[in-house]
Amino acid sequence: MDTTSDINTPYYLYDLDLLRQTLDQARQAANQHNYHIHYAIKANHNPIITGIIRDYGFGVDCVSGNEVIEAIHRGFAAEKIVYAGVGKSDDEIRQTLESDIFCFNVESMEELQVIDEIASEMEKTARVALRVNPGVKAHTHKYITTGLDENKFGIHPLQLQESLDLCRRSKWLDFKGLHFHIGSQITSLQPFSRLCQRVNEIWEEFDISSMGATILNLGGGLGVNYEDPEGDPIPDFQSFFGVIAENLKIPDSIQVHFELGRSLVAQCGNLITRVLYTKKGVDKEFVITDAGMTELMRPSLYQARHKIENISSSGEICKYDVVGPVCESSDVFGKAVELPVTRRGHLLALKSCGAYAESMMLRYNMRTRAKSFFKTSGKISHITNAEMISSV
Ligand SMILES: *Cc1c(COP(=O)(O)O)cnc(C)c1O
Repeated sequence: MDTTSDINTPYYLYDLDLLRQTLDQARQAANQHNYHIHYAIKANHNPIITGIIRDYGFGVDCVSGNEVIEAIHRGFAAEKIVYAGVGKSDDEIRQTLESDIFCFNVESMEELQVIDEIASEMEKTARVALRVNPGVKAHTHKYITTGLDENKFGIHPLQLQESLDLCRRSKWLDFKGLHFHIGSQITSLQPFSRLCQRVNEIWEEFDISSMGATILNLGGGLGVNYEDPEGDPIPDFQSFFGVIAENLKIPDSIQVHFELGRSLVAQCGNLITRVLYTKKGVDKEFVITDAGMTELMRPSLYQARHKIENISSSGEICKYDVVGPVCESSDVFGKAVELPVTRRGHLLALKSCGAYAESMMLRYNMRTRAKSFFKTSGKISHITNAEMISSV
């Protein structure tokens, strides 16, 4: 079976060899500094992908109760699971306390109070890290910055003392340290060095070490190269962790954790789609594909652009607006995209679809769920083992 045969399109195609190389490099670079990596499972919760990541010894960063359940079901160690999110429900908090994961990354004073109350009712200790909003610009799309005053995430430094005081007073809260996450698809290292400087200041100003902190979690956000995925398939983890090590000035005894999502999985996935129709417009020509925003939401959600390749043709280069079949004008993969002459029936590959594509799949327009296929050593397989189906 290969990509040009008659697999029903659209489908996700994952290169597991590239995934393993990426994980190898991330792990090696982190090990040099004794850093711990949690995989941000919201980037892709496909069980084959998460199974491989688990076998590399990584932990998991979850943003919902169901992700916590899935991570445990998938065999990740509970003591390596962290749980963030601005809107944890009472049920999610209860369920997470039962599962005894490593810690909650708490995003508001009120959430901290609720965790304290529920933990006390259940007579269970809640390990917590406080997510601080550091006011650092991530220089990325406005929908994926998270560390500015205007963003909903984290505790503002003005409320941090009050939250630390509650941790100190409460019998049921076990304070583990601080958590930060400033945004996603950050392609310059400057915001990360700025983040470290803010962490150093906050750590000192609030005397975090005296609170018995043992960890600092710096979140994720390292970007990937969407323009040239073949030329630059693996992010520079070495430089990323190097910049952190250079700029962070907190006691050596503090364990430093990261939550990488996109940088681990984005480049290993492609979305394969068939051209349904071509159509002439005024001054342009449309290519209408059988994949749409339902299989890859990033373009319509954040004006993201994915490289598009015609894998059935190598003719003369023309310009096309490549659009999906969904009844929304934002269902556009790219405008004036240069492609070899493209016709009905050709297969296109949308590159860098390993992160925030399959995990964001929508059923809008009652679309059929796209399947996933996996390539190892040039061979493609579709794994339908019941054991591999998600638990939630
Ligand atoms: C989404 C998210 C991440 C991962 O972000 P990437 O840009 O995919 O690395 C990490 N931490 C938290 C809290 C998140 O919400």
